[in-house]
Amino acid sequence: MKRICIYCGSSQGSHPGYKAAARELGRIMLEKNIGLVYGGAQVGIMGEIADAILGGGGEAIGIIPKSLADRRIYHTGLTELIIVNSMHERKAMMAERSDGFIALPGGLGTLEEIFEVVTWAQLGFHDKPCALLNALGYYDHLSTFLDHALDQGFINQASRNIFITEANPIRLIERFESYKAPVINKWQTTDTPQ
Ligand code: AMP
Repeated sequence: MKRICIYCGSSQGSHPGYKAAARELGRIMLEKNIGLVYGGAQVGIMGEIADAILGGGGEAIGIIPKSLADRRIYHTGLTELIIVNSMHERKAMMAERSDGFIALPGGLGTLEEIFEVVTWAQLGFHDKPCALLNALGYYDHLSTFLDHALDQGFINQASRNIFITEANPIRLIERFESYKAPVINKWQTTDTPQ
């Protein structure tokens, strides 16, 4: 595993434990020589993980749309800063350049980004692992909701299994290293959930 894409908050959250979780994940990625691909900002949890990686001499690639870069909110010390024309181009490039995807705690942007790559996995467009790093139980309610959606027949078990949820970052990276993408038959031919 060469690089992992991290989606996370441009805010830092209300508890210092969220920043600490980002630093801890950064430390483990450094140890394993895994590079970071992320949204390129210097603020919030995004800045925290980039600083953790760069501070240890690791590789941090930021991919940011021009409209945000023009407002000079990008990290100035990155290994590589790639400026693209749109959010769509950014997300496609973040996905292409990574071997897996992790959402640290974050808000709407983070949720949108991780759900997009999970949806692509469920359709078989890629076979890279996708996970929620459940620091401080931040994603407990979302996991409960996903189980509810499974229970109600809107998500099938194989698709639910794609979404790895793990509180321990060491264990999470180990699960990525041994990940085998499931074969999913998403296309429904009847009204019966599979
Ligand atoms: P949010 O979780 O709503 O704070 O949004 C974070 C996600 O949206 C990140 O993973 C970024 O890709 C993108 N994003 C939001 N704000 C910024 C910003 N100021 N600079 C760069 N990317 C951002």
